[in-house]
Amino acid sequence: MSDVRELLPGLQVIVCHGIGPENDIYLLQTDEGLTMVDTSWLTHAGAIMEGLQALGWRPEDLKWIVLTHAHPDHTGAATGLAQLTGAKIAAHELDAPVISGEKRRWMPPRPLRNLLIQRLGESQSITYPTDVALWQPPPVKVDRLLHDGDRWGGWQVIHSPGHTPGNISLYNAAQKVLIAGNWLMAAIRQPRQPRGPLARLIHALAAQFVDFGEMRASTRRLAGLDFDTLLLSHFDPVTFPPIAAQLKTRFA
Ligand SMILES: [Zn+2]
Ligand SMILES: [Zn+2]
Repeated sequence: MSDVRELLPGLQVIVCHGIGPENDIYLLQTDEGLTMVDTSWLTHAGAIMEGLQALGWRPEDLKWIVLTHAHPDHTGAATGLAQLTGAKIAAHELDAPVISGEKRRWMPPRPLRNLLIQRLGESQSITYPTDVALWQPPPVKVDRLLHDGDRWGGWQVIHSPGHTPGNISLYNAAQKVLIAGNWLMAAIRQPRQPRGPLARLIHALAAQFVDFGEMRASTRRLAGLDFDTLLLSHFDPVTFPPIAAQLKTRFA
């Protein structure tokens, strides 16, 4: 299930529902060709294809898929979409080995995994499925490696590590738009410090994957950019802007 909108000239969104929070898939019309930013979960390829069609695009119009980071709610449908459209896939050099399966994604054993998925859902007032195929999607072939400062049409690639080592954001200075994937997720969804032994365990596990120091540095860098529109992966791009303005003053 998906719905679609035009946000700004040359910038559209396909919103996927049904697993966890919404997944916002941005479509950029650039000199590199029609570019999709992130792909949602493994099972969302069909909904995204419907979204492309609803926006008037043919499958072969899609030239590139840029992945903001290696997590399965961003990379899951990438291989399926590349097969259906012929698009190529780009990701930052530090997340590419995980995306392509060269580096194995560590998955906790089932009881702990299910507990973590349940807690993640509770923290967002959502129920996530525990199906391992969703959380550990098949490898994705990465055709192009991205680096900090690369240009993508009118967009600039900004390496913003922390959430993952190779997390990137895309910034359009002319339109004052920042696409920042999962940036500020923790600040928005979990404003309170975790309490209790289980919460402490989960926090410690998260620290195995998230580099909080890098995240703070990335947050300062992104908040310092001149943008009017902040587009994240799991927040409504239309109702979110007033919140974005508050966040910018809080973190700049
Ligand atoms: Zn993520
Ligand atoms: Zn995400």
